[in-house]
Amino acid sequence: MQSRPLPKPLPFVYPENKPFWDGTKRHELVIQRCKDCGKFYFYPRTACPHCLSENTEWVKTSGKGKVYSFTICVRPGSPAFAGDVPYNVAIIELDEGVRMMSQITDCKNEDIKCDMPVEVVFKDASPEIALPYFRPVA
Ligand SMILES: [Zn+2]
Repeated sequence: MQSRPLPKPLPFVYPENKPFWDGTKRHELVIQRCKDCGKFYFYPRTACPHCLSENTEWVKTSGKGKVYSFTICVRPGSPAFAGDVPYNVAIIELDEGVRMMSQITDCKNEDIKCDMPVEVVFKDASPEIALPYFRPVA
């Protein structure tokens, strides 16, 4: 018996993270910055984690950063990813200083290195959602 692959899960969009997903849909990587202490932060939330101010703004990032850490998954995290193993999961440190989980694309798993310079690329996962991935910078 042959079965169709499971659809991959998509992010839940809610009021606090909607500007982030609106940005990825435009193929822009946006994060929050506190207008009181000036620091960037990620993941999306209503108050600055550094000073608890709610006086924040969304700003477009450079989309550039480096691999902070990564792993190669040989067992899928969900049956929906069974056809993708082995795949990488990486923590990217953006030039703005925040870290986000993503995946390195356009690179063999064995060529991924910590501190490797990367830049964001977007893949449209549905009509509503574009996901940010990162690829090596030449
Ligand atoms: Zn702050």
